[in-house]
Amino acid sequence: MTLLMVTLALHGCKDKEDDFKWQIDQFADIRIMRYRIPGFEQLSPQQRVLIYYLSEAAKCGRDIIWDQNYKHNLAIRSIIEGIYSGYTGERSGEQWEQFMIYLKRVWFSNGIHHHYSSDKILPGFSTEYLTELINLTPDKFFSSLLGGKERIKEIYIPIIVDPTIAPKRVNQDAGIDMVVQSACNYYEGVTQIEAERFYADMANPTDSTPISYGLNSKLVKENGKLFEKVWCIGGMYGKAIERIVFLLEKAAALAENEQQQKIIEKLIEYYKTGDLRKFDEYNILWVNDLQSRVDFVNGFIETYGDPLGYKASWESVVNFRDEEATRRTRIISNNAQWFEDHSPIDDRFKKKEVRGVTAKVITVAQLGGDCYPSTPIGINLPNADWIRKVHGSKSVTMDNITYAYDQAALGNGFLEEFAWSEEEVDLNKRYGYLASSIHTDLHECLGHGSGQLAEGVKGDELKNYGSPLEEARADLFALYYIMDPKMVELGLMPSLDVARVQYSNYIRNGLMTQLTRVELGKNIEQAHMRNRQLIAKWCYEQGRADNIIERMEREGKTYFVVNDYEKLRQLFGQLLREIQRVKSTGDFEAGKSLVETYAVKVDYDLHKQLLERFAKLNIAPYGGFVNPLIVPIIQGDSVVDAKVEYPSSYVEQMMEYSKKYSYLPLYN
Ligand code: ZN
Repeated sequence: MTLLMVTLALHGCKDKEDDFKWQIDQFADIRIMRYRIPGFEQLSPQQRVLIYYLSEAAKCGRDIIWDQNYKHNLAIRSIIEGIYSGYTGERSGEQWEQFMIYLKRVWFSNGIHHHYSSDKILPGFSTEYLTELINLTPDKFFSSLLGGKERIKEIYIPIIVDPTIAPKRVNQDAGIDMVVQSACNYYEGVTQIEAERFYADMANPTDSTPISYGLNSKLVKENGKLFEKVWCIGGMYGKAIERIVFLLEKAAALAENEQQQKIIEKLIEYYKTGDLRKFDEYNILWVNDLQSRVDFVNGFIETYGDPLGYKASWESVVNFRDEEATRRTRIISNNAQWFEDHSPIDDRFKKKEVRGVTAKVITVAQLGGDCYPSTPIGINLPNADWIRKVHGSKSVTMDNITYAYDQAALGNGFLEEFAWSEEEVDLNKRYGYLASSIHTDLHECLGHGSGQLAEGVKGDELKNYGSPLEEARADLFALYYIMDPKMVELGLMPSLDVARVQYSNYIRNGLMTQLTRVELGKNIEQAHMRNRQLIAKWCYEQGRADNIIERMEREGKTYFVVNDYEKLRQLFGQLLREIQRVKSTGDFEAGKSLVETYAVKVDYDLHKQLLERFAKLNIAPYGGFVNPLIVPIIQGDSVVDAKVEYPSSYVEQMMEYSKKYSYLPLYN
């Protein structure tokens, strides 16, 4: 009885979802949703308070990611929020609406560059209007550090409206100086060659446990000398990190067990010193903690925002394990060796012993930094290759986030528009959620962790092609195995129809629907998108003679239909084998050729058609989330418990965050 009640309570929300509003805002190419935290009430009060402190810490690094994305971001945010708060003119009409759209977009991207394409966001209002907005906002709404309205207009209006100033946050075009041409704030006065040489000199080729060079610092050149400004207490971003540490100390006192307490304390040590050895020690402790129910990421983690892939953006995810759904990934991870042994890759690159593939499904309680409002749906950490090899990695899928996506998307007409047949649509409604969940499990739990590098290969040889190829490797692993009869045997899916849904979806997305996120005439830039087109297009081309994937036309609309699932599976296997070889041997030229041939360029006519079809549906291609409120329950001066509330205003949450969690000066 108790068990049943718990189960009902965990999933109870699914029955009452009719009255829960998943999507709460839409503007430009963005839709804002909410996610629920099922199971929070079943945690102990101590766990709930722990989550409260970690959630506060998740929000305190918000300014860091803004500053990392572009050095003028915090100043611009303070100006446009000042206008929003204080503008005395008419708050209606086309120009005002355009201002609000701009403000919301900048919030969403944690800066003035698009969160996904990294192109500068250009406002839809006129320069004259911006001047008027500033003029009609009382001085007290602007930070005195900005030096008054005249200076604001002179310096910041061009930064906001001029498309030639800082046009791209991350520019990885071939043949340019990627450091100089990228607006991100990871380098100053430094060229790409100088930065690469700086870190090449630092690396010791015989070190089998190298730190992640450059991960937590800005590289600057002053008076002809290169040095790192380290992000730690007393260093760059020190004020925000101090606050994070203050909250982590509160959390450490509430840890569920000794191991978790040690983890938090090690993270604090790292934040205090900026010592990357301590970060590695922290990661090793963290990856070995399989016991704690509550878990979190808080730090400088992913390097996608640096064109050279050294510097990590600040992010946080607070979560707790979803015990029931974790069963699924446990089955997968328990069979990790079987998957590795049967993988279609060259035996030389197989791990003889797959270790530490832990897998769990989590319920997200709070998102912060680079994970907010736009969030990943899975995490696989740590990133350092040698730690993964020796200690394994931790993989999680964020089930309440994907579930929210799924619920918000039901019935928006997207699938009906791009799927060839009604049968495809029906199968999708039946198995789509399960199919994408299992794909994510395989990608995160096994895909990234499989395979090994050849002797002498360090793992950074593929440079800017490394990210899309790594994602392709993990996706291909998932695609290859989701169609394996073993999946049904293990009780993970009722039939291989689930895999067929995933194949159709993957090809449709890789060749068509993901392009709805790319501007007409532009190339594909983002690593995950490059990976998906690389796989889909390569298979389409290779399978042409056998008509494995067929391009169909109906009433002027294009569709891609998978004709032979088993043969498509073999193609996935072949490409996995090749990409594993490229990674394992560090074959830069072959990796570059795969990406440049299949992943980057877009068929203009098809793209145009897709955008027209998509426009009619009026769906924003990108989604993101507001956070639930974790509200502390206070007795005397201590927090004794916490509860969850679901706010429904994106604007209010953003304004509140700027007010409550601004710990950095406008320039750092
Ligand atoms: Zn991945």
